[in-house]
Amino acid sequence: MDKLAVFCGSRPGISPTYLEAATKLGKELANQHITLIYGGASVGLMGAVADAVLNEGGKAIGVIPEFLKNKEVYHKNLTELIIVDSMHERKMTMANLADGFIALPGGPGTLEEYFEVFTWAQLGLHQKPCGLLNINSYYNQLLHFFQHMQEQQFMEQKHLDVVLSDTNAIALIEKFRQYEPPAIKSFLRAHQT
Ligand code: AMP
Repeated sequence: MDKLAVFCGSRPGISPTYLEAATKLGKELANQHITLIYGGASVGLMGAVADAVLNEGGKAIGVIPEFLKNKEVYHKNLTELIIVDSMHERKMTMANLADGFIALPGGPGTLEEYFEVFTWAQLGLHQKPCGLLNINSYYNQLLHFFQHMQEQQFMEQKHLDVVLSDTNAIALIEKFRQYEPPAIKSFLRAHQT
């Protein structure tokens, strides 16, 4: 696992705990020699995770669409900044570069990014782990909702199992290392009948 994408808020959130968690995650990535792939902004949790990686001597690669460079105040000191033309190209570039995906707390942009890689994992389009770093119980309601989806038979248990989560960055990265993707054949068969 050389590179992990981190999706997270372009805002800092109400509690300092969120910024602290972004900083801890960034430090941990650098300590484990994992390159950060992220949206390239210098603001909110996005900026905090990148700053922590760089301050710790790690590598951070940002991927930002030209039209967002000013709005999200692109980070000027990254190891590499990749400028793309659209949000779709940004997500595709991040997905191709990364060996796994972590969502820290964030807003609709963060969830959109997480849902895309999660649903692609469910379809077998990639075999990379997708995890929620559940800081301050932020994702509890989403985790309950996923459980509800499974109980109402809109999602199989093995796809619920794709949603890794932990309150601790080190533990979540360890789960990534142990992750075994679901068998895609049975998913396709179930939907062919
Ligand atoms: P947010 O969680 O809303 O603060 O956004 C976090 C990041 O997701 C920011 O870099 C946004 O530009 C990005 N984002 C927002 N909407 C989308 C979208 N529809 N697709 C991909 N990324 C998005």
